[in-house]
Amino acid sequence: MIIVLFGKPGAGKGTQAPLLANELDVPTLATGDVLRAAVRGGTSLGVQAKGCMDRGELVPDAVILGIVAEELRQPQYARGVILDGVVRTIPQAEGLDVMLQRLGRRVDAVLAFDIENDEIVRRLSGRTVCENCQTPYTGRAVGSVCDKCGGAVMRRKDDEPDAIRTRLRVYDEQTAPVLDWYRSHGGKVAVVDAVGDVCDVTIRALAGLGVVRRRTDG
Ligand code: AMP
Repeated sequence: MIIVLFGKPGAGKGTQAPLLANELDVPTLATGDVLRAAVRGGTSLGVQAKGCMDRGELVPDAVILGIVAEELRQPQYARGVILDGVVRTIPQAEGLDVMLQRLGRRVDAVLAFDIENDEIVRRLSGRTVCENCQTPYTGRAVGSVCDKCGGAVMRRKDDEPDAIRTRLRVYDEQTAPVLDWYRSHGGKVAVVDAVGDVCDVTIRALAGLGVVRRRTDG
C-alpha cells in the first residue's frame, strides 16, 4: 500500500502520518525529516538543502527523487509506505510514477488534507517540534523536553512568518496542481477535512481509504 499525504504546510501531514502508519501497519517516509537530519549531520545533501528549507522554498526535484529512490530500496518499505511531504511538484509525481512502475508498484491513494490559510498561519505560528525525533507540539515552549525521546523542543526556522508566507505561495504555485495530475492519471484522491480533533481527522483519513474506525474513547 503506497499512500501519498498531500496538503498545505501545517495541514497536519506530520501529525497524521505516524497515526495512520500505526493503524495500517506500514512505515512512513517524510522527505522533510530526511532533509532536516542531513542538515543536522552537515552532509553534502544537508548543505545543499539548507538554504531552500530556511527560506521555505522547495528543494530541487532531482534531489527529492534521489532521496525517495534510495529510501524505497530499503526492505522496510516492501509492504508499503506512507509518503509525508512528497509529492510536491508535477515532476516529482511523474518521477515517482516511473520509479514505482519499474518496481511493479503504484500510488494506491492520495489523501488530500483540506484546510484554510488562516488556520495554517494560526497552527504554524504556535508549532514547535522536537529537534531530535521531529514530534510536533502545539503551545509547547521552546527549550522544553520532548515527551517521546527527551530531545529539546525548538521552533522550525521555516515556521517564521516570512517563510510561512513563502511556503503557502509555493504550495499554490507548484504543489496544488499535483492533485489534478493524480486525478487525471486515474489516481484515487480522497479529500479529508483536516480541521478539528486529531483523532477525528485520522478517522476521516482512514474512511477516505475505505477503512472504517470508530472512536473508542467516547
Ligand atoms: P516539511 O517537513 O515536509 O514541511 O518539509 C520542510 C522543507 O523541506 C520544505 O519546506 C522544503 O524546503 C523541503 N522539502 C521537503 N519535502 C520536499 C519535497 N517533496 N520537494 C521539495 N522540497 C521538499
